[in-house]
Amino acid sequence: MKTDVLIIGKGISGLLLSLFLKQHDIDSIIVNKSKPSNPILAETIPPSTLEILSKFNLLKTFETNSSKTYGYESLWKGNYTDQFFFTDSHSSYNYGLKINKTSLLKSLETQLKNRIINDAYLNKTETKNHIVHSTINSMNNEINIKSNFVIDATGRQRILLKKLGVKTIHHDYSIAFICYLPIFGPRLKYGFFTESFSEGWGTVSDLNETTRIVTLYTSEKNADIQRFRSFTHWHELLSKTQLLKKCLPQSGNFKIIGKQANSSIPEYLVGKNWLAIGDAALAFSPISSHGISNAIYCAKKASEAIIDYSKNKGKSLKDYELALKNIFNAYKKHKNTFFVEV
Ligand SMILES: Cc1cc2nc3c(=O)[nH]c(=O)nc-3n(C[C@H](O)[C@H](O)[C@H](O)COP(=O)(O)OP(=O)(O)OC[C@H]3O[C@@H](n4cnc5c(N)ncnc54)[C@H](O)[C@@H]3O)c2cc1C
Repeated sequence: MKTDVLIIGKGISGLLLSLFLKQHDIDSIIVNKSKPSNPILAETIPPSTLEILSKFNLLKTFETNSSKTYGYESLWKGNYTDQFFFTDSHSSYNYGLKINKTSLLKSLETQLKNRIINDAYLNKTETKNHIVHSTINSMNNEINIKSNFVIDATGRQRILLKKLGVKTIHHDYSIAFICYLPIFGPRLKYGFFTESFSEGWGTVSDLNETTRIVTLYTSEKNADIQRFRSFTHWHELLSKTQLLKKCLPQSGNFKIIGKQANSSIPEYLVGKNWLAIGDAALAFSPISSHGISNAIYCAKKASEAIIDYSKNKGKSLKDYELALKNIFNAYKKHKNTFFVEV
């Protein structure tokens, strides 16, 4: 097969990049390794991101597949905040969005109507005479794809970067433990609450009328991490919290799903014929609510860098890398003042 851009990963960043390229008649193929265990997270995006979505003509698509959200409550390092969403932000929107990711991804895929190879993964990739030769494994078949670019959009897995030997620099080792629970305990004013405790922090996010997602974050290096993996330990683990503990049903053993949630950045974000986008490029702590905004921003900027590539002999890729590294440096400064280190 031949294409202009081979994209590995079908999350928001991979699908949006393909969509932006399509708007400029640049062909792409997406390869995705389906992961049935990928949990529904109901991520939120702040009002400022709605400005970006509007600029990129994506607001309707996102709004159709989300519910509006107006703020959050927080007990962070002992201080209580009841924040009507970002009243001090320079956004003309006074609400954010809680995303229904399953339907959003489906909607983006429908708009694309292009080649997506599911249940497939990247086996190897190498560049010869400016052409990228990749081998994809799909249901016991090998598919060879020639492209001008290959993109890592595999989130924190960073599959392409690993194949290319690019190292990841970690700024923490946060891991999330996600649990779907029947709504129990206090009603949340805005459907979202966060509280820090000695070994990390937790969030409660109402998914619908009957179910809420409780997520606990700690470090992969926590010697007592096993207690996070089993719901039977959660009552004891949260015993000193004020509100988190009240959201746990008294009985029942609920399934816990673990997911990486670290702040990290690869040593390099671009190479001669490749780029990293979304979480593969910059991974923020989920509590910052930057992940989806970053996926949208990267997809747009990467499409522009690819479009401009031949005009400026590849300088656009380096500009892309610099812009992203500056964003991550600003985040690192903010992180140190705000986050609970675990
Ligand atoms: C618990 C938690 C809560 C969060 N809450 C928020 C929030 O409230 N707000 C917010 O903005 N962000 C939040 N985030 C972050 C947000 O989910 C991510 O930043 C965002 O989904 C990244 O999108 P992506 O497209 O870069 O990667 P992903 O969504 O991770 O997509 C990667 C894709 O690559 C595919 N893939 C993986 N390996 C391979 C392979 N070998 N071959 C082919 N394909 C592969 C996967 O199947 C997947 O489709 C949260 C994250 C976590 C963990």
